[in-house]
Amino acid sequence: MPARLPYLNARLQGYTTTIFAEMSALALATGSVNLGQGFPDSEGPEELREAAVAAIRAGHNQYPPGIGIPELRQAISAHQLECYGLAYDPDEEVLVTAGATEALAASLLALLEVGDEVVVFEPYYDAYAAVTALAGASRKVVTLRPGPEGWTFDPAELEAAVTARTRLLLLNSPHNPTGKVFSAAELELIARCCREHDLLAVTDEVYEHLVYEGAHVPLASLEGMRERTVTISSAGKTFSVTGWKIGWACAPPELLAAVRAAKQFLTYVNGAPFQHAVAHALSLGSRLTAPLALDLAERRDLLCDGLAALGFLVHRPAGTYFATTDLRSIGEHDGYAFCRSLPERCGVVAVPSAAFYDHAAEGRHLVRWTFCKRRETLEEGLTRLKGLGTGQ
Ligand code: PMP
Ligand code: GLN
Repeated sequence: MPARLPYLNARLQGYTTTIFAEMSALALATGSVNLGQGFPDSEGPEELREAAVAAIRAGHNQYPPGIGIPELRQAISAHQLECYGLAYDPDEEVLVTAGATEALAASLLALLEVGDEVVVFEPYYDAYAAVTALAGASRKVVTLRPGPEGWTFDPAELEAAVTARTRLLLLNSPHNPTGKVFSAAELELIARCCREHDLLAVTDEVYEHLVYEGAHVPLASLEGMRERTVTISSAGKTFSVTGWKIGWACAPPELLAAVRAAKQFLTYVNGAPFQHAVAHALSLGSRLTAPLALDLAERRDLLCDGLAALGFLVHRPAGTYFATTDLRSIGEHDGYAFCRSLPERCGVVAVPSAAFYDHAAEGRHLVRWTFCKRRETLEEGLTRLKGLGTGQ
């Protein structure tokens, strides 16, 4: 259980330390190979970094406009149109934020009343639970389970999660931590649920360009969904610059105006020079993103094949930075105990998937590993894991 902090309000008790902070601190303290937190240990594209340097030199160092610089809003709008056929007005329907995290926080804080419910799939990205709690709302989870066709959910569980208090559905595809890319049929089920119960949708699409099998389809592109959906993404994962924290939200004018109202009192604005650089990167189409996805697909295979050779049952992801293993395949059962002892046992850090579940029993035996690190890092991690003696 996370520590209780005496001065912290009741809403945030239970959310005092993120699993990423805990595991990355453990990696640093023990000199372990960090296959836990999802950030690359290599540089993003040089062209992008040079564009940021040029923007600083050109004097883009004061507050940008509250909604983001026009060049970036236009580039985001063009990106949504070119990639998905979704047209958004850059002035009324696009908002630049401090990473996807701020877009998510502003959306939930703006759209939820105290006492509302949010439907979300578990395992879920940890910020969803904390921000839902900050908004005074509560979550109803629908469990994703691994099956022969990959991770999926029971439509009856989705239907049962909706109550008279449900205000919105929060969807993450491609999905962290499972790596699932929701299929067209699943998205149609979700869209139908939103339409029938008149729910808003908030979608987290930060891994939209990191898809290795299948295709990313934004929920907003389904019938009747554009008008009720806030679509969120970020440059961090798309361009391997997680520290830049340039994200965005696209939504119809009235929804976006609500999100903007909350966002202006969170950071107000951020990252002026980075906004210029990301506008440039987005304008290059798939020139920067396609090679990165190909390279990551190879690193996914390197890590997944390596873990499988060590005896782990691996759920190979269709997208994102992450693969999941089932510890029962190596005769262990508790992901927390495994991850907390792993640095000492062999100098590697991974993340217990249980941190992303409400139903602890569903995720107790699962562990998340990231493959967004350099090949040398992955190989060193796999070599060290041989020390566990799990090999067959
Ligand atoms: N959503 C998901 C699913 C993530 O994995 C992350 C981590 N990148 C974020 C949101 C946060 O994105 P950002 O760093 O742009 O705030
Ligand atoms: N998105 C990253 C992950 O899932 C972590 C980001 C964070 O530390 N908040 O590993």
